[in-house]
Amino acid sequence: MQTYEQELQQAKEFLLKHDDYLIVSHVQPDGDAVSSTVAVGWLLSRLGKKFTMMNEGVIPNRMKSLWHAEYIINMSEQPPQRTFTNVICVDCADFERVGRTKQYFTEDAAIVNIDHHPTNNRYGAINVVYPEAAATAEILFDLLNLFDIEWDIDVATAVYTGLLTDTGGFRYSNTSPKVMNIASTLLSYGVNGPKIAEYLLEEMTLPQLKVLVQALNTLHITSDGKVAWVHITPQHMIDSGAVSEDLEGIVNYPRNIQGVEVGILFKQLNNGAVKVSMRSAGKVNVAALAQSFGGGGHVRAAGFRLEGDLEDIMSKVVEQVRRAL
Ligand code: 5GP
Ligand code: MN
Repeated sequence: MQTYEQELQQAKEFLLKHDDYLIVSHVQPDGDAVSSTVAVGWLLSRLGKKFTMMNEGVIPNRMKSLWHAEYIINMSEQPPQRTFTNVICVDCADFERVGRTKQYFTEDAAIVNIDHHPTNNRYGAINVVYPEAAATAEILFDLLNLFDIEWDIDVATAVYTGLLTDTGGFRYSNTSPKVMNIASTLLSYGVNGPKIAEYLLEEMTLPQLKVLVQALNTLHITSDGKVAWVHITPQHMIDSGAVSEDLEGIVNYPRNIQGVEVGILFKQLNNGAVKVSMRSAGKVNVAALAQSFGGGGHVRAAGFRLEGDLEDIMSKVVEQVRRAL
């Protein structure tokens, strides 16, 4: 087993040695996924390397101000005409998380897997997997520091954004002393912390508020008060005018009820599948639960997707969570 430092070193050598990279993150990318994608892109641009950034779907509007985020190809809209041999996957706990972007990896592609999920199954040729990191962006902070390049405000803002979003605004239990030290360093590089927090964590669009109201109207809680859940249907999305990224954070509402151990958001997708997000107050390892349903994540924040009827899935999942309690 290699140390984290050795893994970083291997990734560094790989980046220096090759050229023409593809950078991908997970389906329905969050703040850490987009930040990590552009941070790797920024590094490669500084190294004078050719690179392409891609995701299976759309980049959240709120992330579009990050450095070169507008150049992240949405492969569902602009399918690339070629394949790539050197692939860097960021924030993807398993190979399935890259979604359909894998169509553009060559058979013999060399994958660098950079991630912080404890459920990561080390699917890369090179794996920089460090579950102690609060965000994949934290790993990128360490990686970038191995190179002889000067930080600028663009990349500092990206790394700060990944840290901020994956720690829930420096509040969750993954907010380690190291996270605060990195944040401090990034602020000293000129990052506008309050502005980013206001934009990403405070400000809401009207559809976002409307869809929150609709979700809260579906609230259920078990008789012992330990499991609470809400759901969203395609009709809720239409009525509120919300988009996928507007659901970010809703799962915290059932979780935040006093006495609740696990909060769940069930999002019914148009194609008869359900996306499940789980948050734990600490007693239940939701990563393990999510894994038993084919997903993954962190001890306190995890998710998965199931095909089937919403009501069936809700009762099945709630039953499993109750058993884990
Ligand atoms: P969220 O509930 O916000 O979508 O995700 C919470 C955490 O669980 C994130 O770290 C995310 O990467 C992980 N996660 C969510 N859905 C899945 C999934 O379908 N598979 C895996 N492996 N991880 C997931
Ligand atoms: Mn992450």
